Amino acid sequence: MFQEKMMFGKNVADFLTESIIEDVEKLKNEGFTPKLAMLKVGNKEEDASYQRGAINRCRKCGIENTVVELDENCTQAEYIEALQRLNEDRTVSGILCFRPLPKQIDEDIVKYYINEKKDVDCFSPINLSKVFSGDKTGYSPCTPMGVVEILKYYGVELTGKSVVVIGRSLVVGKPLSMLLLSENATVTVCHSKTLNLKDVVSNADIVISCIGRFEMINKDYIKPGAVVVDVGINFDDNGKMSGDIDFEDVVKQASLITPVPGGVGAVTTSVLARNIVKACKVLNK
Ligand code: NAP
Repeated sequence: MFQEKMMFGKNVADFLTESIIEDVEKLKNEGFTPKLAMLKVGNKEEDASYQRGAINRCRKCGIENTVVELDENCTQAEYIEALQRLNEDRTVSGILCFRPLPKQIDEDIVKYYINEKKDVDCFSPINLSKVFSGDKTGYSPCTPMGVVEILKYYGVELTGKSVVVIGRSLVVGKPLSMLLLSENATVTVCHSKTLNLKDVVSNADIVISCIGRFEMINKDYIKPGAVVVDVGINFDDNGKMSGDIDFEDVVKQASLITPVPGGVGAVTTSVLARNIVKACKVLNK
């Protein structure tokens, strides 16, 4: 039921993967092998599931990978040292720093240490500023770019459309709104202090939710026929995983919608793989 309304991340990921495989083969023929290094602190379940997804995608694309796991009590100096070793390692094309970091490590300090040429998930302020200035020489953040790829794959016109992004974090909401602006959408960014949220959201042609609130958005927020993308990953008290969108309620109202799981998350690692290939090219130019 509602199959015709579904935007499945796997279809988009498979489509992106095809051209990544070709690019990796070309690089290997020239003597270069793209490689991802993942830097993590401790062994959190959220990191582990993203790590599994990234490793699977790398394998499908022919990209090598390695994981550097630091002790959960490691110091900031130890973290920076590990990051610098990866910066200097000539076999490593891309570095993925798992976030959020534990409290003893200040993200606002360590983000300046990553080599921006290897920064495949847009951690460095240099790459983030490139997203905001529309400079395509950097690396797009994987989740926000995954949202744009889903909309493009499913033929959703963005030019001139009214898009509401709910959430303004530096990891998802803000960079996503910039990417959508580059696609000529008319973007409104909402957050926890937005007044009359329901009124604002229910006027949008496209709604993208990245708030981290279990099934908060029901059909009252959605204009009939709107396109709905759910970035949220939440768990209820029974461990059930769901997004920010009350899927069963909203699917009747929307023209297209992403499920959770099986939506945005599935595309994120393909964008990551594409960024690793780009990094390998940049480093060996
Ligand atoms: P975050 O840093 O906690 O930011 C949440 C944002 O949502 C904030 O801007 C906050 O507003 C806003 N917000 C919270 N409650 C709200 C409410 N009731 N009404 C309106 N706005 C509200 O989270 P994040 O890192 O951006 O992640 C957001 C969600 O995406 C999480 O569920 C996360 O797990 C998920 N995520 C998914 C992927 C993926 O691959 N699918 C990747 C990354 C993150 P204020 O700024 O006013 O506080």
